[in-house]
Amino acid sequence: MASERTLSIIKPDATRRNLTGRINALFEEKGLRIIAQKRLQLTQAQAEAFYAVHRERPFFAGLVSFMISGPVVAQVLEGEGAVGRNREIMGATDPKKADQGTIRAQFAENIEANSVHGSDSAENAASEIAFFFSGLEVVG
Ligand code: ATP
Ligand code: MG
Repeated sequence: MASERTLSIIKPDATRRNLTGRINALFEEKGLRIIAQKRLQLTQAQAEAFYAVHRERPFFAGLVSFMISGPVVAQVLEGEGAVGRNREIMGATDPKKADQGTIRAQFAENIEANSVHGSDSAENAASEIAFFFSGLEVVG
């Protein structure tokens, strides 16, 4: 499988509990390389734009207020099949359904405050990476 890039976000529930380093260690142990990273406070407009695909969902307003409730760490992960690999490392959206050893099984508080985001396709990864990073900031 070819080397790929995916967009990851360490969400506010995890930055609040000082889990950035432990989550990053899991990515690195499991073969993904962090090739760009920055910590930022999203505005409401930015969070709404990032999650625009979910704007009709009943959880949209809650999700946006959660995502702006504290800092996030946006990052680009690179590795073999990085999009799918990262989804495996993250585990299911609902931590109650996440496999043992996944980030969400270990760290997520609930289905909303679930510690990490990961792109769900190579196509979405490209647009999500461009949302957060300029080409100069991604150093593979
Ligand atoms: P992400 O896109 O953050 O990587 P995901 O792809 O596993 O997560 P999505 O279906 O894309 O899940 O939902 C986006 C985010 O919206 C979830 O990660 C979670 O924070 C929130 N969310 C999803 N479903 C619910 C729900 N039923 N109730 C509350 N929040 C939800
Ligand atoms: Mg998703």
